[in-house]
Amino acid sequence: MEIQGDKWEVQIPEDAETDLPKGHFTLVCGTIEEIDEGLKQLHPESPFFQDVLEDAADNAPLGGVSIDASHTEIIIPDWLQEADISVTDAEFLPYYDRRALAVLFRVSIETVSEYQREFLRAIAIDTRSEETLPNLDQTFLDLTEPGRDTITSHEMTTEMKRIQELVDASRKPLVEDIQPTIDETHQEASRAADAELEEYRQLQQQREEELAEKLDRLQSRIEELNAMIDDSEQEDRVEALKERRDRKSDQEDIESELTKLRQQREQGYPEQQREIRNRHALEVVVTPVTVTEIEYERGDAEFKLTNGGAKQTITVGYGSGVGVTEEVSCDECGQPLTTDRPLGGFKEKLRCVECN
Ligand SMILES: [Zn+2]
Repeated sequence: MEIQGDKWEVQIPEDAETDLPKGHFTLVCGTIEEIDEGLKQLHPESPFFQDVLEDAADNAPLGGVSIDASHTEIIIPDWLQEADISVTDAEFLPYYDRRALAVLFRVSIETVSEYQREFLRAIAIDTRSEETLPNLDQTFLDLTEPGRDTITSHEMTTEMKRIQELVDASRKPLVEDIQPTIDETHQEASRAADAELEEYRQLQQQREEELAEKLDRLQSRIEELNAMIDDSEQEDRVEALKERRDRKSDQEDIESELTKLRQQREQGYPEQQREIRNRHALEVVVTPVTVTEIEYERGDAEFKLTNGGAKQTITVGYGSGVGVTEEVSCDECGQPLTTDRPLGGFKEKLRCVECN
């Protein structure tokens, strides 16, 4: 592989044991709107990147790593970061080792028609408590960046049956995480369905108008023929009678088609609605791609706080790479501290911004 700026020249040998296409490629890093034929894009959502990942996963779908707390920075919780209080020191006191699985899922949101999205999403779950560990997947990704040697790999110790259970258990929180993206795609798809239905509705109404005009013309012609029949000679009369018969039959056909169209319009075109909605219905498929066992440590973290002249140390449950593992509440109102309700003060009791 040869790197030239944001272009990577890649050669995959013919005898390589991989399902990736063999030969010479130019990979373009990042996203660009227009791409020349023959170039392949490389970014986390590009098909080529996913092929590479799938290939790597096929060869080594399972692995284990340990996160050494001494190499990871202490994660300050949101409710402290957002507070007008300084953290002068933070210390982690590990008590015991725990295991988690980081599961990388490929998510595909599809409709039968055009809307389709595919992306990768990781989630970490504790092997014992099955709690999801929000920061651990990111910590793991950060630590595996090239040039960092703060993680050591080891054989996986979790049993296969347990891994399967945990992968299944992590699907639900993963889908909850991506719900906004699903909703957004769903809205796009239903907007497309509405537009299609509106187009159909307009076409049908146009057809109705055309038929109504045709019916008017037939009606006038039949009236003309009636007059001709009443006062014409024998020969003309026969022809007029014949034409009137044909025109009346046309009139019946158009009337019945028009009645059908009007009924469908009044009912809101149920068949077409069903067909269009089905075609735009979403299917969300999440497929596990890789599973990594992560050993991490749990214990307490001590945060030393100062606010003006006041000082206090608070101790909360903590996991290395995970962050604070317990909910901390305001001692005044009992509400949990969050990004939107950060710590406001700590004179004797911990108080949220609103109670301070
Ligand atoms: Zn409060």
